Amino acid sequence: MRLYDTYTRSVVELPAAPGPIRMYVCGPTVYARAHIGNARPFIVGMWFRSWLRATGYEAELVHNITDINDKIYEAAPGKSAELAVRATEWYLEDTGDFGLGLPDHLPKATESVDAIVHFIEELIASDHAYAIEGDVYFRVASFPEYGRLSRQRPDQVEEQEPNALKEDGRDFALWKANKPETEDTWWDSPWGRGRPGWHIECSAMAEEIYGPAFEIHGGGLDLVFPHHENEVAQSRALGHPFAAIWTHNGMLRFTGEKMSKSLGNVTTMREAIDEWGAETLLVFFLAASWRKPIDYSDDTVAQARARLETLRNAFTLPAAEHDEGRWETFAAALEDDFDTPAALAVLHEWASAGQLELLRRGLEVFGLGGIAVRAEAPPEVVELARRRAEARSARDFESSDRLRDELAALGWVMRDRADGYDLVQEQS
Ligand SMILES: [Zn+2]
Repeated sequence: MRLYDTYTRSVVELPAAPGPIRMYVCGPTVYARAHIGNARPFIVGMWFRSWLRATGYEAELVHNITDINDKIYEAAPGKSAELAVRATEWYLEDTGDFGLGLPDHLPKATESVDAIVHFIEELIASDHAYAIEGDVYFRVASFPEYGRLSRQRPDQVEEQEPNALKEDGRDFALWKANKPETEDTWWDSPWGRGRPGWHIECSAMAEEIYGPAFEIHGGGLDLVFPHHENEVAQSRALGHPFAAIWTHNGMLRFTGEKMSKSLGNVTTMREAIDEWGAETLLVFFLAASWRKPIDYSDDTVAQARARLETLRNAFTLPAAEHDEGRWETFAAALEDDFDTPAALAVLHEWASAGQLELLRRGLEVFGLGGIAVRAEAPPEVVELARRRAEARSARDFESSDRLRDELAALGWVMRDRADGYDLVQEQS
């Protein structure tokens, strides 16, 4: 299995199965209902895990919940803790609706503060961090490899988190002193009341579960700098290898006039699922390489829905003789940097060739196995439908109506198509 690694800017080979492959994928900051683009790191992470397990790996996924963050204070002054709890529930509910299951661990920053404080103490003890008036900053100058992940020269990195008291404009906060007028939740620490910075939360949560070294760290492409650059600095400054491979998924762009982000018209995950259904959205994400940007509009999602219908309809047609040898093409596409557009093309080939067993197995990798279960009509239903089609073409409407009623009694309807018909199970 090969994946593109942001750190080396190259496609790298994963360790041989069974691995283990331990993955950490940055999760949401919980301050609002997440928009549909936030579903992508979750879905890609769950698909990686699913494929790795299907090919004999021991794969594990950590997806954190950032429930301590400036955005939460800003979104709910005086009630930040309640908002974080509610928005965490929304996120779990919405991502749960994709039917992909749960990550192995969903650590929360609020439950990891001890580990975070300990991590900061080690950085101070080794001179990689310093405390000033209740804040603690990472000393960027103490880590010569700074900027390597985001491909910036260390001396040209822009200033982060302006504060005249810092030694160096590039230094970033590990701990922030509480500002009681705007920040209604805080934790005690050796530096006084405050809260952790965002970047140290992820270094600490990842290492608390996996230890100082693991295989893959993922997240949206917008996290390369400063978030992941700072995670690398914090962990490697202590001599921890941290993640071996960095995977960054491409961003979702809202296109089409109805939903330009600049108009404030961003579609939430909830709205997208309610409007289109989870299966259509999964096909939408499958249609683009995980690393590339993806355009979200009524047109592009409608295309995904049409593809889903084509795949679904394949299960109403007769199966051809099973040809196991064809699995290899599908596997090769995914082994090659998880090329889901190529894998989706193979699924469509199987659909038109009647390779239904392969199609079912392929769909299951992406959490779409339900299509086959629901759409596959039992033989007696297929036979009734065939007889009804015959009756209709013979203009025997009496028989046709009787057969229609027999199908309905079994819970199936025939839906006409230009080149035949589909068999659809009625929703009860
Ligand atoms: Zn993170």
